[in-house]
Amino acid sequence: MKTLMALAVAVLFLFPAWVLAAPAKPALEVVVLGSGGPRAFGRAGSSYIVLVGGKPRILVDAGPGAFLRIGELGLDLDKVDTVLLTHLHIDHSGDLAAFFNARALTSEGPIAYRVFGPDGAGLFPKTSEFVDLLVGKDGAFAYQKTFGAQESFLVRDLAISLNSTRMKITDEDGLVVEEIATHHGDCPSVAYRITYRGVAVVFSGDMDASALPNLVKLAKNADLLIFNCAVLDPPGSPSQLYDLHTPPRKIGEAAHESGVKSLLLSHLAPDVEGQKAAVRHSIRASYAGPVTFASDKLHVPVGK
Ligand SMILES: [Zn+2]
Repeated sequence: MKTLMALAVAVLFLFPAWVLAAPAKPALEVVVLGSGGPRAFGRAGSSYIVLVGGKPRILVDAGPGAFLRIGELGLDLDKVDTVLLTHLHIDHSGDLAAFFNARALTSEGPIAYRVFGPDGAGLFPKTSEFVDLLVGKDGAFAYQKTFGAQESFLVRDLAISLNSTRMKITDEDGLVVEEIATHHGDCPSVAYRITYRGVAVVFSGDMDASALPNLVKLAKNADLLIFNCAVLDPPGSPSQLYDLHTPPRKIGEAAHESGVKSLLLSHLAPDVEGQKAAVRHSIRASYAGPVTFASDKLHVPVGK
C-alpha cells in the first residue's frame, strides 16, 4: 500500500503539467436553452447558445424562457455578439429583447451586435425592421440601446426564396456561418450551418418538407444536425401542421441523404414527447446514426 501511495505522489509531482491538464475544449458545443415550441408545457421556446473553443459566442433563436435558462446555467454572455434567427415566430424570438437586456448588464464595454434573420413577407417584418421595432429609435424598448452598455446593431436580412443558394455570412478566425432559405408555411425562414476547426453543426429551424432539398445541401456531412421535430408522421398530427413542419420519417430521410453524423431532435411538441419510440422508429427507417431528444440545458459537444 505504502509503495502505491509513494508511486501516486511521484506521478503527481514528476509528470509534466500537460499530462494532468484538463482535456481540450471541444471546437464547438451547443447548449440547448429551449427545446420546446409555442405550447407552454415545461420546455422553453426554441433557443441555443453555441460555444466556440469553449466560449459562448453565438445565440441561435431566442424563444421565451431563454433568458431564464441563461441565468440558471450561469452562461457568460460577454462574447455573444452574433445572433442567428431562423424565423420570427414568437416561440423563436420572444426573448430577444430580454437577451439584449441580460447581455448588456454583464458587459464591460460597448456591444456591436450582428443579427441575421429572414427577409420579410406578408404579416412578418424583415429582421432589420423587427430589431428596429424592439430597440430602434422609435422601438418599444428604445431605452435598451444605452441601458447597461452602448449597443449597436448591424442587421442583415437573408433571402427567403427556396431558389436562393447556400450563402456564407461570416468567416472570421476560422469560424464560418452559412445559411440557406427554407420554408415554414407563410413565415419566412432560414437554416444555419456553423463550422469551426473542421466540425459543423446545422440548425434546421422550423420547416416543412418542401425545403428538404435546401436543408440537405446545407447539412452535407455535418457532425450534428439539430432538426425541429414538432409533428408525428401523418396522420398523427393535425393536417395543417404538415404545411409548417417536417414529419419524423422525412427527417430521417434528410439525415441519411445529407450524411450527417448525428441527429438531435428539438422543438418537441407534447405529442412527440409522448411517442418518442415511434418517432425514433420512423427515423431509423432511413437513418442509422445516433438520435437524441433534446432537453433544456443539455450540453452537446459537436463532432470528434
Ligand atoms: Zn417554432
